[in-house]
Amino acid sequence: MKTTDILIFGGGASGLAAAVTAKRIAPNYHVTILEHGKRVGKKLLATGNGRCNLGNVHFPCKDAYSGTVVALLPEIDARTEDTKNFFRSMGLLCRQDAEGRLYPRSNQASTVLDALRLSCCSYGVDIICDCEIQSLKKSKDTFLIETSLGTFLAYTVICTPGGVAAPQTGSDGSLFSLLKVFGHSFTKMTPALVGMEAESKELKILKGVRIAAAVSACSSNGTQLFTERGEVQFNEHSLSGICVMNLSAKCNHQNPAYLSLNLLPEYTAEQISALLWELYAARTDWKLEDFLTALFPKKAGFALLRYAGIHLPQDAPVHQLTPMDIEKLTRCCQNWRFTVTGRGDWKEAQVTCGGIPLCEIDTSLQSVYAKGLFFAGEILDIHGICGGYNLDWAWHSGQYAVNHTVKYLKERGGN
Ligand SMILES: Cc1cc2nc3c(=O)[nH]c(=O)nc-3n(C[C@H](O)[C@H](O)[C@H](O)COP(=O)(O)OP(=O)(O)OC[C@H]3O[C@@H](n4cnc5c(N)ncnc54)[C@H](O)[C@@H]3O)c2cc1C
Repeated sequence: MKTTDILIFGGGASGLAAAVTAKRIAPNYHVTILEHGKRVGKKLLATGNGRCNLGNVHFPCKDAYSGTVVALLPEIDARTEDTKNFFRSMGLLCRQDAEGRLYPRSNQASTVLDALRLSCCSYGVDIICDCEIQSLKKSKDTFLIETSLGTFLAYTVICTPGGVAAPQTGSDGSLFSLLKVFGHSFTKMTPALVGMEAESKELKILKGVRIAAAVSACSSNGTQLFTERGEVQFNEHSLSGICVMNLSAKCNHQNPAYLSLNLLPEYTAEQISALLWELYAARTDWKLEDFLTALFPKKAGFALLRYAGIHLPQDAPVHQLTPMDIEKLTRCCQNWRFTVTGRGDWKEAQVTCGGIPLCEIDTSLQSVYAKGLFFAGEILDIHGICGGYNLDWAWHSGQYAVNHTVKYLKERGGN
């Protein structure tokens, strides 16, 4: 039987941050990470398209997060080191972009993982990979954990197995059923930061096109629920891009009835109409397929004509458009609708909407059912939009949970 003071389940972002912090504030405690993958931090390597958008200077901006655990953000922010300093202390420099997103100076996600992994090694954290956790039990003040690599006795446990998004990176929810032994439940879980599946005849033409727009998620009665600006990417059966992914996160478990694209959000209807008439005059003998190329990619312009119900042949001259056609086009530029039929699956999702709810933890991220059991990261019912907010949550909650874990151990007479 191996004995440890702090046993961390899962060597992802929050687990590694917790391990580093534990050794900094309590170097004498024995800290062990149990990871079921072959290596720790697999998901980190995929973040930010391999560049790792590791935080945002606007953390803990409440508007960027959803879920019951959002209520704890101010307290957690106040009691933890900010992301730039946390990584600087491991010798990793960050750069900031115009929107406040933080990236490693090296622009490589692997350097973020290395900073954490090598710090763990220098501090003497035991990292045990390829380890399947089979059962959890609490007896008096200790936890007994049966694993494929033998039994562990731990004085405290920090649970950081992530959610269920991108299970190919290790976060497959395999720990969830074991936690039910203590009475824990999970709110409904839905893939978030993911593309929206949509139905529209024009998607066939639009496949592969990218276009800037203000995208609104709308309910069936036409109410605009949320609006995001950015680049929309069209696929044959779905829309994606950061703005669409953010809408999937903001809408939580509910899919909008449709997405409405405003392709010219900087113009009023009158200005768009004037612009179209200007193009009409300048391109009057051109082919219809070239009419809107001043504003949009060629395929997008042509798909918009079809959406507006203009079925003239592609090579018809522009002057065949009627004033009614220009009016319809004006309206469609501002409200191009795509009926939402679902959202991308767990494999494509970047985060989990849902998790262990606020009512099952106290303000120190400790289980209300099992003293000495703490949580951090995506397993909790909180998720953020794109921009570094999810990793910020992972680092901050990892640090915070471990601060309280150490306090808990010290109160029980640990050194
Ligand atoms: C493709 C992609 C890109 C992303 N890009 C960004 C980005 O640029 N910026 C950003 O802020 N966020 C990004 N995210 C989200 C961010 O990576 C996650 O929110 C964050 O990693 C969650 O941290 P975590 O520690 O809670 O879980 P994870 O990082 O998922 O780590 C959980 C760990 O626990 C292990 N584990 C799970 N179950 C068990 C078990 N039963 N036993 C042992 N070990 C277990 C897993 O193998 C894994 O190593 C991205 C996500 C994806 C999928």
